[in-house]
Amino acid sequence: MYSIKRTSLKNLSERDQKHIWHPLTQHKLHPKMLGIVKAKGAVLYDEAGKSYLDGISSWYTSAYGHCNDHIIEKVYGQMQQLDQIVFSGFTHEPAVRLSEELIKILPENQEKIFFSDNGSTATEIGIKMALQYHFNKGSKRHVLLAFENGFHGDTFGAMSVSGLSVYNGPFEEFFIDVERIPIPTPENIGETLSWLKKRLAKQDIAGFIYEPLVQGAAAMQMYASAELSKILALLQANDVITVADEVMTGFGKTGTFFASDQPTVKPDVMCMSKALTAGMLPMAITSCCQKIFDAFYSDDIGKGLFHAHTYSANPLACAAALAGLELLQSKEMKENIDRIIKSHTRFDSAIKNHSKVAKTRQCGIIFALDLAVEMARYGNLRDKLFDYFMKNGVFLRPLGNTIYISAPYITTDEQLRKIYDTIEGALEII
Ligand SMILES: *Cc1c(COP(=O)(O)O)cnc(C)c1O
Repeated sequence: MYSIKRTSLKNLSERDQKHIWHPLTQHKLHPKMLGIVKAKGAVLYDEAGKSYLDGISSWYTSAYGHCNDHIIEKVYGQMQQLDQIVFSGFTHEPAVRLSEELIKILPENQEKIFFSDNGSTATEIGIKMALQYHFNKGSKRHVLLAFENGFHGDTFGAMSVSGLSVYNGPFEEFFIDVERIPIPTPENIGETLSWLKKRLAKQDIAGFIYEPLVQGAAAMQMYASAELSKILALLQANDVITVADEVMTGFGKTGTFFASDQPTVKPDVMCMSKALTAGMLPMAITSCCQKIFDAFYSDDIGKGLFHAHTYSANPLACAAALAGLELLQSKEMKENIDRIIKSHTRFDSAIKNHSKVAKTRQCGIIFALDLAVEMARYGNLRDKLFDYFMKNGVFLRPLGNTIYISAPYITTDEQLRKIYDTIEGALEII
């Protein structure tokens, strides 16, 4: 016999505090979570019935809106056919079709699709591909190159290549060897390239991982594709495996299917998750060019990529991803993306000269503004801003003194107006 623990607490927020340990949370400072009971389109509803516009697509996942009917229908159909199967030794229609459909829209050098289940594992696999590529070829390369202030996830390899912060600080001494370069600007690119040329002579750099065009967690830092191409070309000429972390930027965010569509030099490896499954189910993909796959293709079993996750290529997640790709390529979604890009550009001209705004930037549907005040990433002013947004029914998550928008593509003009008005209102309270 067993007894069931009974609770006298009433709402989700109170019940939550009994047993749940939340991600990215110092519970002593932030004990209360908001209970969300429903989401539809660009709107979230809390347990008191209050609604919020999801200005960041729930961490860039729900790109086509929450609980999208087309995605629900496709996932439901798949649920009745095949739910889960081991992906070593077996295959299935949703995975095969997803590989076919994805290859059609990925940069032309991408040939192979490796499945996992979250953004960190996608980058972890990219890192392993880069390291084992050289191992398999018998060359001793153990150093990874990354951009300063990048973010690639919370597992050990991913943490190693991320910029140091509260996320990964306590684990620094356990990291893989990493060297960092600044994101390129027309001013610093010459210096970076000459440093790299000297550094590459040691022949110990295995791979380079980078967020193409936009560094999300670094508060939406943006940089130009022309300079990125110069770095990629130099590294590829030296057989350094280039790994584009498109976990945030993929699937339309930057105005093209992938941010990597914009630089002329294409990555060897690409990491995808977040909007891949339209926010419906967790899944990730690491794609690569033929050269990577060939370095693992051998009579020697030990040269294979021995990496698996229980839910690799889960059929339901594949069905969600396929439905998402259909939406992404629909005329309606292309028009929506275009509409949001233009709308942000108009908002930018209206806001950029405001006395409380230091700087603005935009890449595709991502818009960011830096406030002309200094504040800590998780400080009081940041909390005051967050509370103001929520009180006004808009979910935005300021990063330090940066306010950014990455709303679902189906966000209407009226809803965008409300987000902009709320940001303008927030400038009055700081
Ligand atoms: C979110 C994110 C990750 C990590 O993805 P998880 O699914 O949260 O593990 C990695 N890289 C980038 C660029 C991201 O935005």
